[in-house]
Amino acid sequence: MSTFGDLVDLLDRWYPPESVEPWDRVGVVCGDPALPLARVLLSVDVTPEVVAQAINLGADAIVAHHPLLLRGVHGIDPRHPKGRMVTDLVQHRIGLVCAHTNADIGPYGTVAALARALGLQDPRPLVARTDDPSSGLGRVGQVAATTVRDFAELVAERLPRTAVGVRMAGELDRTVTTVAVQAGAGDDLFEQARLAGADLYLASDLRHHPASEALAHPDAPALLDVSHWAAEWLWLPELKARLDEAIDAEVEISELVTDPWTALVNST
Ligand SMILES: [Zn+2]
Repeated sequence: MSTFGDLVDLLDRWYPPESVEPWDRVGVVCGDPALPLARVLLSVDVTPEVVAQAINLGADAIVAHHPLLLRGVHGIDPRHPKGRMVTDLVQHRIGLVCAHTNADIGPYGTVAALARALGLQDPRPLVARTDDPSSGLGRVGQVAATTVRDFAELVAERLPRTAVGVRMAGELDRTVTTVAVQAGAGDDLFEQARLAGADLYLASDLRHHPASEALAHPDAPALLDVSHWAAEWLWLPELKARLDEAIDAEVEISELVTDPWTALVNST
């Protein structure tokens, strides 16, 4: 039988912790490496609902994309939400391991999964790593000629459903053949998407000022803004397929929508 330590070793091999961004914190949050592993839950975020789901499933481990404890802590006080989650995980002997920016950049990472799900041909990083040009931030690739509006509809079909849907900016009927994507927060890659000749750039968490300024360029790509959770969730089925081949445990994907926005209203 596999152990929690086997799972951690595997993730470290696939997504080397030394490749993380300097500000990031990945790896084991809690859990004894010697504990047997029969059931694993995969999730983008660790929220109280995801922890409750893991407990109800009888999971032995959670693999999450976003770190639960990104900033320094001096205690695990169960009167606070994060302390409660860690306490519950420890009490139920559930290991938690996070793979974040180390799981974004490579050929089996979140960005590559998003590019694959949207059918980008010959995708290459928008910002390639100097030590490995096949890895890096964002992807840019080709699609069969379409429009911004039609590509947005495809995105809405391929991503899991959220309240925020797909927001569009730019000329919606323009022809799109070159598409750039970033799986997480993406308003630091506008310039790279434009310089790569993208007709359309899809990312998450695009803010007012950077987006407005990016659109002011005459050759700016149109923009699609999608749920951060939904864009990165597409990594989980690929991760499950890899884990199913490599460890002796049942691997489940959390279908809980952990996007913080749950409803939308507009004037008619
Ligand atoms: Zn993210």
